[in-house]
Amino acid sequence: MNIVFIGMPGSGKGTQAQKVAQKLSLPFIATGDLFRSQIEKQTEIGQKVKQIIDAGNLVSDDITFELLKQGIQDFDISRGVVLDGFPRNLNQAIILDEYLKIDKVININLSETEIMVRIGGRRTCICGATYHIKFNPPKVENICDICSKELFLRDDAKEESIKTRIEIYKKNAQPLLDFYRQKGVIIDIDGDPAIDDVENEINQKLGL
Ligand code: ADP
Ligand code: AMP
Repeated sequence: MNIVFIGMPGSGKGTQAQKVAQKLSLPFIATGDLFRSQIEKQTEIGQKVKQIIDAGNLVSDDITFELLKQGIQDFDISRGVVLDGFPRNLNQAIILDEYLKIDKVININLSETEIMVRIGGRRTCICGATYHIKFNPPKVENICDICSKELFLRDDAKEESIKTRIEIYKKNAQPLLDFYRQKGVIIDIDGDPAIDDVENEINQKLGL
C-alpha cells in the first residue's frame, strides 16, 4: 500500500505518517527530512536549497522529485511506502502518478492558529524524529529519544517563513486535493485532537 500524507505545514503529517509506516512495517520517506539531511551534510543540493527552505519557499519540482527518487532507492518499497511532504502541488502529484500508484491520501486538516502553536513548539532531530515541547516532549529535555542527538528548532520556524509556507500551501492545496478526490483515494482527518486520538482516527479509517 502506497500512502501519501498531505496537509498544512505543522498539521501533524510527519508525526502520523511515521506511526502508520511503523504499524504497517513500510518505509517512511519525507522530502523535508531528505533536504535537511543534504543541508546538514553541506552537499551541492543542500547548499543550493538552504536559503529557499529557510525562507519557507518550495524547492523546484525537478530537484525535489530527483531527491525523492534517490531516497526511495535506499529502501525496499515492494510492499509499499509512506510519503510525507510529497506531493505538495498538482504537478508533483502528476509526476508521482507516473512513478507510483497512490492507494490512500491522508489529508490532515488544522486551523492556522493551531499551526503556529505546533510549529513554534516543534523540536526536530536530524534522524527525522519530531517532538513538541508541550504536546510531545522527549524523555530527556532537548535530546532525541531514538538516537540521543540534540534537538533543534528548524531554521524555517520563523514567523515570516511559516506565513510564506501557509500561503504556498493554500495556493496549491485545492488542485492537489481535487486530483486525488477524483481518484477517490482521499481520507480526511481532523488534526486538532491529541496525537493518540488523531492516530486512532487514521487507523480506523485505514482499517488498521
Ligand atoms: P508536519 O509534518 O505536518 O509539518 P509535524 O508532524 O512535524 O507536522 O507536527 C508539528 C508539531 O506538532 C510537532 O512538534 C508535533 O510533535 C506536534 N503535533 C503533531 N500532532 C499533534 C497533535 N495531534 N497534537 C499536538 N501536537 C501535535
Ligand atoms: P517539511 O519538512 O515537509 O515541512 O519541508 C520543509 C521544506 O522542504 C519545505 O518548506 C520546502 O522548502 C522543502 N520541501 C519539502 N518537500 C517539498 C516538496 N514536495 N516540494 C518542494 N519543496 C519541498
